[in-house]
Amino acid sequence: MSNADQPFEINHFINGVLEARDAERRADVYNPATGQVTGQVALATAADVDHAVNAAATAFEAWADTPPHVRARILFRFRDLVEQNTERLAKIITAEHGKVHSDAVGEVIRGLEVVEFACGIPQQLKGEFSENVGRAVDGVSFRQPLGVVAGISPFNFPAMVPMWMFPVALACGNNFVMKPSEKDPTLSVELALLLKEAGLPDGVFNVVHGDKVAVDALLHHPQVEAVSFVGSTPIAEYVHKTASDQGKRVQALGGAKNHMVVMPDADMDQVVASLMGAAYGSAGERCMAISVAVPVGEETAIILRERLIEALATLKIGDGIEPDVEMGPLVTAAHRDKVAEYVAIGVDEGADLVVDGRGHQVPGREDGFFLGGTLFDHVSPKMRIYREEIFGPVLSIVRAGSFNEALELVNDHEFGNGTAIFTADGGAARTFLAKVKAGMVGVNVPIPVPMAFHSFGGWKRSLFGDHHIHGPEGVRFYTRYKTATTRWPNETQVKAAYTMPTHG
Ligand code: NAD
Repeated sequence: MSNADQPFEINHFINGVLEARDAERRADVYNPATGQVTGQVALATAADVDHAVNAAATAFEAWADTPPHVRARILFRFRDLVEQNTERLAKIITAEHGKVHSDAVGEVIRGLEVVEFACGIPQQLKGEFSENVGRAVDGVSFRQPLGVVAGISPFNFPAMVPMWMFPVALACGNNFVMKPSEKDPTLSVELALLLKEAGLPDGVFNVVHGDKVAVDALLHHPQVEAVSFVGSTPIAEYVHKTASDQGKRVQALGGAKNHMVVMPDADMDQVVASLMGAAYGSAGERCMAISVAVPVGEETAIILRERLIEALATLKIGDGIEPDVEMGPLVTAAHRDKVAEYVAIGVDEGADLVVDGRGHQVPGREDGFFLGGTLFDHVSPKMRIYREEIFGPVLSIVRAGSFNEALELVNDHEFGNGTAIFTADGGAARTFLAKVKAGMVGVNVPIPVPMAFHSFGGWKRSLFGDHHIHGPEGVRFYTRYKTATTRWPNETQVKAAYTMPTHG
């Protein structure tokens, strides 16, 4: 792929081949730092999706029959190839998403960790065996792949989120159809090409690009057994309901409003450094971004506010490909405008706009989709800027009078993805961990994204479905459990039994 002056075509990858050069519908892909159109992505029709699902279904039996350790060997090679290509992949991420280069490298590495977990799949798929559950009768339980599974991902992690899904699914013996975000679609194709280079048979991993048309076709396709979705809450809820109604297994991860509770005894240097990264890193376009700071006590609030104003004054905003830039642009002009609109809503609602990032200009990048870091104080739980996910570089301070008030605030919010507490008090941290209603909790850690060998997921309206993603929960999601009871002819007398067998 090139970033030359001409927009390049981004096509589907089906059965090991790049397709759809004659696509009827295409969408523009931008470099958000320059505002230029750099690519045009094909938007799949239902027929394209059917073609991809059929390719995956055809290749399923041979892949499912491939021993797990042989599947893992391909993933080992894929892991090495991704590592060798990390710099190049990160540049593509920055060019289509806008996040700074070091952040893009970090996202590739976090994705790689899931591949590393998936390389250990023979261990994860080991079954259970009980000898002599009856006289000369044994019991065995094991997990089998589902078939064709689909992944639908958001724009904000074009490498990591697809890699939360397909390495585990493939390792378990499933075949995959990936539908990445149409805003930054190139990475999924690059990963598909690396999987092919690693030796993955054609048809096992496919990429279809598109919008609602492609998603709906996947959700209704009779040969798609399961759907992994990551994106905003309204679409997650829609995907969960639609695919569940079709009898599919679904995990749908949604939006967030993550709070950081700052206790009076917290180390303020650590708090401010952590908050700056967690609120403004990746321009706030992270589902684990901290968008609400909750200082406990008046003095904590006053110090925090002043320290954040100072830190925001030195935040380096620019083209993410430049060294030393700390925050890049937002993904599209429309999203930048939506976030700016939220700033106006906050002012109308009576919040105290302490730092206004609207109208921020980057010299030489006047057409880029930039917004400066924005800070509100005296935000109240009734305000829309508190209740709704803004998904931009906007941090709200909601002041709490006590620990219990802060905890109640977090627990009353409709989202429950991640949260954090900063404190030197082990007792407060322990109570927070025990009582808080969120799926991922940090203690003096601002963005508590679980490692690949744990599983990722929120509570409340941040996740629809029963399984978190990747790690052990991923293995359960992408497999079906089977239990067998076996007996071989031997000297034991077998007589007709008319009562419930008790294997005594
Ligand atoms: P989005 O919901 O707009 O899009 C996600 C996917 O759904 C994309 O592939 C898109 O093409 C598709 N889609 C969009 N509209 C659709 C429709 N009407 N019908 C069917 N499919 C549709 O999300 P986004 O803007 O790309 O990503 C940002 C959102 O993702 C934020 O809300 C963020 O919190 C969330 N997110 C959550 C997690 C998590 O783990 N919980 C992780 C990353 C991002």
